[in-house]
Amino acid sequence: MKLETKLRIVYLSIALIPIGLIFGMTIGSTLQTFKNFNQALAVALAAALLLGLLSPYFTGGWLFYNQLRMVRQLCASVKHGNYRVFLPVPNELDEDDENEVIAFMRDMNWMVRQIYIREQQLQQTIHELDESRREISQQKAILEEANDNLIETQLSLKQRTIELEQACQHMQVIAMTDPLTKIANRRCFFHELEREFCDLTQTSKPLSLLILDIDYFKKINDRFGHQTGDKVLIEFAKVVRNAIRNNDLFARIGGEEFAVLLPGTDAQGAQIVARKIQAAVAATPFLSANQDFIRITVSIGMCSLARPPFPTLDSFYNFADQALYQSKDSGRDAICAYDPHSAAVSLLDRRKERGGNGLCCRSPFC
Ligand code: GH3
Ligand code: MG
Ligand code: MG
Repeated sequence: MKLETKLRIVYLSIALIPIGLIFGMTIGSTLQTFKNFNQALAVALAAALLLGLLSPYFTGGWLFYNQLRMVRQLCASVKHGNYRVFLPVPNELDEDDENEVIAFMRDMNWMVRQIYIREQQLQQTIHELDESRREISQQKAILEEANDNLIETQLSLKQRTIELEQACQHMQVIAMTDPLTKIANRRCFFHELEREFCDLTQTSKPLSLLILDIDYFKKINDRFGHQTGDKVLIEFAKVVRNAIRNNDLFARIGGEEFAVLLPGTDAQGAQIVARKIQAAVAATPFLSANQDFIRITVSIGMCSLARPPFPTLDSFYNFADQALYQSKDSGRDAICAYDPHSAAVSLLDRRKERGGNGLCCRSPFC
C-alpha cells in the first residue's frame, strides 16, 4: 500500500472520530435531555481538536518509527566503519507498494553500498601505493648500491689510468734511455736529430753534431774485465754530461760510441765543446774494480751546418762519422771536422800530451 493511501485512511479516520462523537453526543442528548447539549458539544469539539493535534504525531510514529530506527542504526554502523549492513526493503520491482520512505531506505542502501565499494577501492589503491612505495625503496636501494659500485669502479679505474699513464711514461723513458749509462739511447738520438734537422732547414739556426768514440776501449775490457768497462762507460757518460749544456742532447749510439747534438751551435762553438769534452775526459782518472786508475781518451768527429744548401740527414750524420774516422786515423785523442761546403775533413786538434792509447796506471796523476 502506498504511503499516500495510508495517510488518507489515517486522516479520514481522524476526521470521522469527531463527527461520530458529535453525532453520538447529539443523538444521546436528544434522546435524554437537551440540558447539557452545549456542554457536550464543547467537550466533543475539544476532544476532536486534541485528537486532530495529536494525530500527526501518532500517525508519523505508526508509519515511520520502525523505518527511521533502522535508518539510524544503519547510519550508526556506517559511522563505525561497518558498511556491510542493509535495510530490509522489498523488491524494487513491486512498484505499487513503493513509498517515499522505502525509496529513501533503498537509496540509503545504495549509498552505503557505494561507500563500501569506494572504501574497497580506496583500500586497494592504498595497498597498491604501499606496494609501489616498497618497490621504489627497493629499487632505490639497488640503485644506490649500483651507484656506490660505479663510484668505486670509477675510482679504481682512475687509479688504474694513473698507473697506466705512469707505466706508459716509464716505458717511454725506458724506450728512450740507455740502460747502462742512463743517458739517451740510439732511438732517442735519431728521433731528436730528425727534429733538430727539420728545425735547421726551416729556420737556418745552426746545428752541430759530434760523434765520440773512446780510444782503445777494448784494452780496458781485456785488462780489467767487462764489468770495469761498464763502469768506465757510466763514468765517461757523467763526465761528458757535465761538460755540455743542459739543452745539448747527449746519447749513447752503441758500444763505446756516443753522440752530442748541439742545437744553435755553429762550427766554432762545436769545436770549443769538443775540446772541453776531450779535456774533461783526459783529466778524469777512472777507477777499476781492483782500484787501478784508468786514463782514457776520446776521438771526436764533427760536422756543423749553418747555411744552405743543406745535405740530407743521413749525409749529415755520415759527414760527422767520416770526421771521426779521420780522428782515429790521425792517431786518436783528436778532433776532426767535416766541412760540407768544401766536402773536406780537417784535423782541428790533437792532444799531444796524451798518447791516446788508453794507458792505465796505479796513480791518478800518471
Ligand atoms: P778504437 O780506438 O779503434 O775505437 O778501438 P776500440 O778498442 O775502442 O774499438 P773496438 O771497436 O775495437 O772495440 C770496442 C769494444 O767495446 C769492443 C766491445 O767489447 C766493447 N764494448 C762495446 N759495448 C760495451 C759495453 O756495453 N760494455 C763493455 N764493457 N764493453 C763494451
Ligand atoms: Mg773505440
Ligand atoms: Mg767504436
